[in-house]
Amino acid sequence: MTGRPSVDHPPLERDASLGSLNTLRVQARARWLAEARHPDDIPAVLGLPELAGQPVLVLGEGSNVLFAADFPGLVLRPLFRAASVIEDDGATAVVRAEAGHGWDALVDWTLARGLAGLENLALIPGLVGAAPIQNIGAYGREAGEFITVVEAWDRREGRRVRLGEAACGFGYRDSLFKQDPDRRIVTAVEFTLSRTPGLLLDYAGVREELATITPGEPGPAQVAEAIRRLRRRKLPDPAVIGNAGSFFKNPVVAAARADELRAHDPSMPVYPAGEGRAKLSAAWLIETSGWRGFREGDAGVSAQHALVLVNHGNATGAQLLAVARRVADSVESRFGVRLEPEPRIVGARF
Ligand SMILES: Cc1cc2nc3c(=O)[nH]c(=O)nc-3n(C[C@H](O)[C@H](O)[C@H](O)COP(=O)(O)OP(=O)(O)OC[C@H]3O[C@@H](n4cnc5c(N)ncnc54)[C@H](O)[C@@H]3O)c2cc1C
Repeated sequence: MTGRPSVDHPPLERDASLGSLNTLRVQARARWLAEARHPDDIPAVLGLPELAGQPVLVLGEGSNVLFAADFPGLVLRPLFRAASVIEDDGATAVVRAEAGHGWDALVDWTLARGLAGLENLALIPGLVGAAPIQNIGAYGREAGEFITVVEAWDRREGRRVRLGEAACGFGYRDSLFKQDPDRRIVTAVEFTLSRTPGLLLDYAGVREELATITPGEPGPAQVAEAIRRLRRRKLPDPAVIGNAGSFFKNPVVAAARADELRAHDPSMPVYPAGEGRAKLSAAWLIETSGWRGFREGDAGVSAQHALVLVNHGNATGAQLLAVARRVADSVESRFGVRLEPEPRIVGARF
């Protein structure tokens, strides 16, 4: 593990700015902020008398959070970040990474050790501890396919727990942790990865991009590189313009309802989602409703990608939320489908 437990507890910062701690760059504040440098810092800080009864928000890189208001309690950042191979039988290996390890850096770390699986999830912003929360996914893969154990501090039980994959309730951008966000603080995640790459290249554009990287059979590292290039072209960079990636989940509806919608609008993309269900493209619904490039003050919808809400400079969380609600209302009145936000909205209901 990196670092040592703080002698007493990690320093507490009072009335802290969160402006540089969220990729939408909303200038919110937290009553208290603490950085845990060791897993034992978590119970130490949570036990402080001045924090008794106060709400707690765990924050990684803030790439999936919209602060609609200041946070009236403790914002806690688990930043311990060791990674190691804890089991290896030659064919598969178990990698354990602590919550504060960068996600994309972990993808590279695993690929450098000949371990395949996470390549399609390259360049997703954020820290490892957040990966199980919404079961991050991209290019046909989800982190939950590789996670075998999540270690967490259980605030209700006041002890560290280990949850096997089956207990984590992974679904599409969903998990047990997302459903009960105040209970568990993820401290480490274990992934089972293979030395035999089972590459998934079917997602639009991946094979074409790979062809520009290698003429031969690609390996997992080349797939990761292709995906990074595709993502850099398609998505606005939070270092350039504040955003939280896709702001809405792709709606899942009854297959019969999707057929009705497509009969009306034959260009509508529809994907099978199992058991008589179908997934619609939130980006298409928003774009077709005319919102791409919309701007009101500094809050808007990206001109590059209709699914991404952007902060052109000084938008408040409330202004961004107002735009998101208008987009969802307009899609609902046109298509009868309600969009749900993907990021955690702090301080307001959607
Ligand atoms: C440009 C861009 C592209 C993106 N692309 C994708 C994508 O392709 N696929 C995808 O799934 N997501 C994507 N995202 C969203 C985001 O990157 C992921 O959700 C990521 O996992 C968030 O990590 P984070 O450390 O920033 O978490 P934060 O935003 O800090 O937190 C997100 C949520 O997780 C909780 N949380 C964070 N850490 C912990 C912990 N240790 N224990 C308990 N709860 C915790 C927070 O309380 C919050 O509810 C994108 C975001 C951006 C800005």
